[in-house]
Amino acid sequence: MRDYPAIEIRFTAGAGADDDVVVNGLLGGLDDFRPTAIEERAGAWRVFFESAAARDLALAWIHEAAPRVVASSIDVPDDDWARRSQANLGPIQVNRVVVTPPWAVESARAMAAANGAIVVVIVPSTGFGTGHHASTRLCLALLQEIPLVGRSALDIGTGSGVLAIAAALLGAGRAAAVDNDPDAIETARENIALNATPVAIETAVEDLRHSSRPPADVVMANLTGELLCRAAPDVAKFTVPGGRCIVSGVMNHERDRVVSVFATAGLEHLKTIVEDEWVGMLFARGW
Ligand code: SAH
Repeated sequence: MRDYPAIEIRFTAGAGADDDVVVNGLLGGLDDFRPTAIEERAGAWRVFFESAAARDLALAWIHEAAPRVVASSIDVPDDDWARRSQANLGPIQVNRVVVTPPWAVESARAMAAANGAIVVVIVPSTGFGTGHHASTRLCLALLQEIPLVGRSALDIGTGSGVLAIAAALLGAGRAAAVDNDPDAIETARENIALNATPVAIETAVEDLRHSSRPPADVVMANLTGELLCRAAPDVAKFTVPGGRCIVSGVMNHERDRVVSVFATAGLEHLKTIVEDEWVGMLFARGW
């Protein structure tokens, strides 16, 4: 049986879980070590990593960056973690799209049948994008508001492949999924294989800032506000004139900046939708 390498973080009086500076600093810093999951428990977090090596580096970083936080290395047995995460992850529905883990396909099909929705099967693993994050749901919602049938779609930062698969199942004539993380592309390929899309989905390990791929009619980029602002000319370049571009991973306080940076790059803001502190935005590339 496999163990999952994790760090258990206990908060002490001087550095509590209610201290935003400590929590945001920790979450931001830990992100560099690519945690696969964070579980909140009473007075503690368990942060899971892909490998023991990544965990050990992250632990050394915490000891240095946040000495008042009590953090220790733990190996969580497979059955414990897998059973609980499976129980927690059921299908989610965004209008005519239901995203489900493989073990809940039957209930997902029943949900989908009620209103003619499509079912996207995603194995919750290391790739981001199970539909349990607001930014993914915002992209899925906007994707259903634009003409897609027969159009080409490009998912930049595909993670689990969820948006590219949804686009293909919703009728895109061509679909491509790229990510600069080879592990994400591996996961995306596994998920693509689980979904019988009417068109094959091309996958590639690519950084959006150094890619020379041709533009698409519909571009989806669920990244971060910061990265979208830095890469706005690239996002514009991947969108055909008159095409549509859906972005998320943007927090509410970043929305105005994204709109203005995108305008400079030739992308006109059409619509913003909101869930909690996250926004999803739809743009059109000018002719
Ligand atoms: N599209 C999925 C996953 C979004 S997570 C969803 O909507 O749920 C963001 C993804 O973008 C991650 O998989 C990350 O590896 C990828 N990414 C980050 N920077 C990137 C870059 N410069 N070029 C390409 N992909 C990038």
